[in-house]
Amino acid sequence: MFRSLHMKLVLIMVLLILSLMTVVGAFLMNSVVRFYLDDFYVQMQDVFGDQVFLDDLQTPTQDELEGRVEPVDMLKQVLNSNMGPLGIDNRTRYYYILDSATGAYLTSSDDADTLREKTPNITHVVNALAQGELTEVGSDSDITASYMDLAVPVRRGDSSYIIYIYDSRQTISELNASLFTIIVEALVFGLIISVLLSFLLAKTMTTPIERLTDGVKRVASGNFSRKIEVGSRDEIGILTGNFNHMARKLQDTIQEAENERNKLDTLFLHMTDGVVAFSRLGLVIHKNPAAEEMLGRPIGEQTAYGALFGDIASLEQVLALEQPAYLSGEREAAGRTLELLLAPFDGERQEGGVMVVIHDVTEQRKTEELRREFVANVSHELRTPLTNIRSYAETLADNAGDLPPETEKNFLGVILNESDRMTHIVQDLLTLSRFDSGRSEFKLARFSFEGAIRDMYHAVLMEAQRHGHTVALELEPNLPGIVGDRERILQVMMNVVSNAIKYTPDGGAIGISAGRAGEKVWMEVSDNGIGIPPEDRSRIFERFYRVDKARSRESGGTGLGLSIAKEIVDRHQGSIALVDRPGPGLTLRIELPVEGPGHEQ
Ligand code: ADP
Repeated sequence: MFRSLHMKLVLIMVLLILSLMTVVGAFLMNSVVRFYLDDFYVQMQDVFGDQVFLDDLQTPTQDELEGRVEPVDMLKQVLNSNMGPLGIDNRTRYYYILDSATGAYLTSSDDADTLREKTPNITHVVNALAQGELTEVGSDSDITASYMDLAVPVRRGDSSYIIYIYDSRQTISELNASLFTIIVEALVFGLIISVLLSFLLAKTMTTPIERLTDGVKRVASGNFSRKIEVGSRDEIGILTGNFNHMARKLQDTIQEAENERNKLDTLFLHMTDGVVAFSRLGLVIHKNPAAEEMLGRPIGEQTAYGALFGDIASLEQVLALEQPAYLSGEREAAGRTLELLLAPFDGERQEGGVMVVIHDVTEQRKTEELRREFVANVSHELRTPLTNIRSYAETLADNAGDLPPETEKNFLGVILNESDRMTHIVQDLLTLSRFDSGRSEFKLARFSFEGAIRDMYHAVLMEAQRHGHTVALELEPNLPGIVGDRERILQVMMNVVSNAIKYTPDGGAIGISAGRAGEKVWMEVSDNGIGIPPEDRSRIFERFYRVDKARSRESGGTGLGLSIAKEIVDRHQGSIALVDRPGPGLTLRIELPVEGPGHEQ
């Protein structure tokens, strides 16, 4: 009930008023009693301290001395004539005249003698007598006592009396009663006002607090659209202002975090590397499409770490690593070589886990393999002619002058041939290396495609005829001129036709045809030679690849001719490929764009 600020304020105000009124009331009533008490004794002091009055009390008259009047009556007369100064009203204050020897009642202020029956307790009167002096005794007259009194011993002639003044304090009681009523009334009135005031005060205090509370709830639920109005400049106003500022900052920070997260999500989604994150329990927290594609299987929330990467390292092993250490492994999946990097990560709330990054290294491995093969091929290709040159040169040196001149000439011929072959190989390698590094410039110009084919035809015809081949040339009419590097295109044509001549047993039939198809021109070279077995067909454009090494070498081939041809055609944005055609021999087709490379088709 007293949880709300309203009720707390009301309670505080009520308690405050109650305690204040109690203290003030007690103090007031106490002061009134003390005032009356003091006033009573000051009054008595004044009257009994007056020598004239004392003389009146203590000096017997002539009539008394002569026994005509009783001293008590005279004493009564003196007192009666001083009722005003003594404040005797016979209602609340009386006087008694007592016998000083026995304390017995003689007379009192009431003529009707009704007070005889009401003789007060007079023990202290006796005490007063024992002291034998004129003194006032009022031991009972403190503020808590129910009456005030005063006993004065008087000696008149031969007799001694006690004048006893008794005040019932009824006036004080009545005053206190009415004071008490006033205080209670004031208290009730004050309480009503304080309750009203505290409600009002609480309202002015709680309204902005309630508004602030609503605002806080709104912000906590992620709604930053409205800011809370600052209604005052007091502490709550400042708090509201600060809260608005904080909410704005929070919104900015959340926005920034959101942007970062979106960026990361996009990155995560589109990155080519696969990423899978696991919790400490080994369950999937995150994964991207690349990971599923690379691993060739779907990854669900329930997919366990062990099922995916348990063979590389256990979850505990990875979690035990200290950052930035990681474990790596390799695996073949869906025809690809995958490199896996496994590392632990720390998370503030989710206690971290394990992150696996999957990297597709298929191409890298292939390139490495090709490079290794290439180096091995180059060394092998160069070693063979070198060995030949060396052995022939050694024989010549060892037998200088002993060999018949015919043999010497033969040997020197072999040495020359082999060094030519080496020169060829090195030249071809240089050409390829220039293509690879992009240092080879093509001289593009429009030239007659037909003219180039005819030139090539005349250049190879002699060689073909030497082998007894027939060469059929079949060109479509009106072949267009094309844009390209004429020398290089001619080199490609020569290479393809030379191969047909080389790899066709003597007396074969070679066909050269050309035409136009859309924006492209084509040339096909066919022969009826040894052909290429199906398993080798896809590899003949690889560097140093030869179906029959011995035969190729015999005919002076380097195994680089078709690779160079493919590079040249590719750079012209054309194509060179084997044509799938049944029967003996081989057909190779070259296509080139009429408008040359770099031209929109
Ligand atoms: P090479 O210098 O050995 O001729 P190429 O790159 O020109 O090298 O050719 C690669 C291989 O392709 C040759 O070694 C050969 O085995 C095969 N080849 C090329 N053309 C033909 C063809 N017309 N008939 C049969 N095999 C061929």
